[in-house]
Parts: sequence; C-alpha cells; structure tokens
Amino acid sequence: MSSVEKHNHAEGVSADNCLFCKIAAGKIPSRKVYEDDELLAFHDINPWAPVHFLMIPKAHIASMAQVGPEHESLLGRMMVLAPRLALEQGCRPYPEGGYRIVTNTGAEGGQEVHHLHIHVMGGPRPWLRG
Ligand code: 5GP
Ligand code: ZN
Repeated sequence: MSSVEKHNHAEGVSADNCLFCKIAAGKIPSRKVYEDDELLAFHDINPWAPVHFLMIPKAHIASMAQVGPEHESLLGRMMVLAPRLALEQGCRPYPEGGYRIVTNTGAEGGQEVHHLHIHVMGGPRPWLRG
C-alpha cells in the first residue's frame, strides 16, 4: 500500500476506486509535468488546448466542496505553481499569452473525475473548447 493510500485510509476516505488516486500512486500511467510530495501535474488525456495539464493533490479530496482551512497552504501552492508550469509547458507570457485555470465542481459544475484537480490550459487559439 502506498503512503497516499495509507493517508487516505487513515482519513477514512474511500479512494479505492478513484482514477486520480491511481494515477497519483503510479498504478495508472500518466505523462508527468511535475511531482513533489503532495502534488502531481500531468497532461490531460483529451486536451482542449495546445497546452492542457491537470494538477492534483496526491491525497484524495473529492472536490472544492470538501476543502477547509486545513487545505489553505496546499491550494495556495497549487495556484502559485500553476503559472510557472504553464510557462514551462509552452504557454506564452502574460499579457499577450496567458492561460486559463479551471476547477470544475460537482455535476452542474461539469466535474467528471471526483478527485480535486485544476485544469491549466493555454497556447495559441482557437482551442477545441474553453
Ligand atoms: P473534469 O471534467 O472532472 O473537470 O476533468 C476531468 C479531466 O480528466 C478531463 O479533461 C479528462 O480528459 C481527464 N482524464 C480523464 N481520464 C484521464 C486519464 O486516465 N488520464 C489523464 N491523463 N486524463 C484523464
Ligand atoms: Zn482520489
């Protein structure tokens, strides 16, 4: 059992069947953009834009609806890291370039994978979506 899974079980969170927990644990392969102890970024399998990667906390959090004060530093790290990775992945600099950072939450928010993630999308338009 990976440290991520131990953490999830310790928290009583059911992440056994979570796609992004499996990606975080390396059980399902992904094209990695960035990894550290608590975060993973990887290319979206079905990109909407020339640059389109996802960033996830390795620990299972279902969505933004579950975040609390204990997640402030984690979410802060994600938002500070995203611009750096966007440029590294080929987004052009602000203001001519830029990128879109999106987090879908719940059914009406368009969330399909229920493990918190941010989409980082950029590159020359037109895009397929977004
Ligand atoms: P959501 O709709 O939940 O905001 O976004 C889920 C995203 O995950 C989608 O953009 C989808 O293309 C991506 N995705 C779904 N399954 C996989 C997978 O197995 N690998 C990768 N890299 N991305 C995935
Ligand atoms: Zn998960």
